[in-house]
Amino acid sequence: MDRAIHTDVVIIGSGASGGAVASVLAPLVAAGKRVIVLEKGGRIDPKQLTGAELESAALHYAFGGAHPTEDSTVTLAYAEGLGGSTLVYTGTSMTPPERVITGWKLPGLDYDDLVKRTEKYAAQNGATFIEESLINENNQLFKKGCEKLGYHARQFPINIRGCKGSSLCNLGCPNGAKQGTAQVQIPAAMKQGVEVVTHAEVTALRTGGRGGILDVVVDGGPHTHGSVSDWPAGKYVVHAHTVVMAAGAIYTPTLLMRSGLVADLPAIGRFWTCHPAHILAGEHDKPITNFVGFPKSYVWEERVETERYVLESCMYMPFITAKNLTGFGPDHERLMAAYDRLQMILVLACDDALPDQRVTIDQDGKPVIQYKLMPKTIEAMVRGTRAAAEIFFAAGASAVHAPSARPTLIERTENADLNTRIRTELFKPGTISVSAAHLMGGCRMGVSKADSVTTPLGQVHGHDWLYVADASLFPTALEINPYLTIMALADRVAEAVADREGQ
Ligand SMILES: Cc1cc2nc3c(=O)[nH]c(=O)nc-3n(C[C@H](O)[C@H](O)[C@H](O)COP(=O)(O)OP(=O)(O)OC[C@H]3O[C@@H](n4cnc5c(N)ncnc54)[C@H](O)[C@@H]3O)c2cc1C
Ligand code: SF4
Repeated sequence: MDRAIHTDVVIIGSGASGGAVASVLAPLVAAGKRVIVLEKGGRIDPKQLTGAELESAALHYAFGGAHPTEDSTVTLAYAEGLGGSTLVYTGTSMTPPERVITGWKLPGLDYDDLVKRTEKYAAQNGATFIEESLINENNQLFKKGCEKLGYHARQFPINIRGCKGSSLCNLGCPNGAKQGTAQVQIPAAMKQGVEVVTHAEVTALRTGGRGGILDVVVDGGPHTHGSVSDWPAGKYVVHAHTVVMAAGAIYTPTLLMRSGLVADLPAIGRFWTCHPAHILAGEHDKPITNFVGFPKSYVWEERVETERYVLESCMYMPFITAKNLTGFGPDHERLMAAYDRLQMILVLACDDALPDQRVTIDQDGKPVIQYKLMPKTIEAMVRGTRAAAEIFFAAGASAVHAPSARPTLIERTENADLNTRIRTELFKPGTISVSAAHLMGGCRMGVSKADSVTTPLGQVHGHDWLYVADASLFPTALEINPYLTIMALADRVAEAVADREGQ
């Protein structure tokens, strides 16, 4: 028989949003309330991490880091484990653009207040500018290329404590230096009595009892990673006064749909965005420090408003670099052989939030991401590719790999000809490796049931016991790395939940 658990608050997921909510609600425990976090993944000990690329990807990521969209033109990266995607994020800590937040026109959402909340989490996570002497050549070359062209590359604040520069951030930091919810907010909440249960997957939810009822399966293993669950394996029914969904922009809409809430809320799963991105590589004549040091230090975003792309310095491991290079044969071989001479830039496009870009479910209740690379997004990626190629050459690269060029390798002698070499019609979705790690939307905040799922405080329309706190709340793409904004929005939602619990 299913075991019954009774609690005041249950939080589904322990990533950026779940960790923030747990930390804000933790003081409720001293006031006699029960607060439980249910996390589908395991608790990963940094000592388990070897830095081996494929092994670490399998350990942290769903689908090995490449969950394909329905038409397989984009792959999605997100982690499952205590800490969610903060286990693998790079830790760039950005405040949201005012233009985007005010553009959401959400009653009660004040930009300055949101920024203050991002600052709270930036401080908790130790976000700081690393010293310039610690910035490796890959990143310095990005800045140098931008400066030569008169562009202003901004340094990212990074949330690290005791970074050893092993450049493994996206495979899980083996040194415990990168600060995510598994290092900061979750342990702080647990100290105050919040119960955290790993390997506990919520499979459905419904209205009932004092609020909501969840079906939960605790997986007893054997697990390839992570400690065993704090609850014995088996099926559970959890009765909660308040339920906070923090399962991320794929699984929160999935769970709501699977639970039959769609008829009432037609916007569930819709207006989904992800900042589709691809990496470009520039070949230098001499080896450069790239895969040691901190992997990502600069962003150039001066054209985001007009041209809808952002460029970031970045570093990718050998397997993912090989997978991302367009083409086969000699050009591919040449670049991989030059791995220690490669400079890398990430082109991120700002995609529009459209009703038909969405998460839906198949007949087994599994998520299906119906997302198309729209012509405007492709044009933005192509413009970004041209700008990145200019930066590579300005930084001294001898050749640039551009997926939307044929042949894909552009030699330095062709530098003056970038507009004709890099062209929109050569960007064929499905033939170019596009990935996304900033998954947003699907349960957007708003005022009406017709085009939103929650109120501006994350309460699901018509369900006073049910809140959403994660990246699925975003009405549109954020246009910058989102984790601090996700935590800041979760902070507001948690305050609303605390008010409800205090009544
Ligand atoms: C490789 C990579 C690099 C990134 N780098 C940066 C960066 O440098 N800066 C930045 O700002 N952002 C970065 N991001 C994005 C950022 O990490 C995410 O946007 C953010 O973590 C999303 O927060 P979330 O709470 O919505 O979801 P997540 O953090 O993904 O957490 C969701 C959690 O819910 C759990 N879950 C899902 N379904 C269930 C269920 N049914 N039952 C129980 N638990 C469930 C999952 O296992 C997961 O732990 C990066 C992301 C990736 C993948
Ligand atoms: S670069 Fe720093 S934060 Fe990233 S994995 Fe290495 S030690 Fe950890």
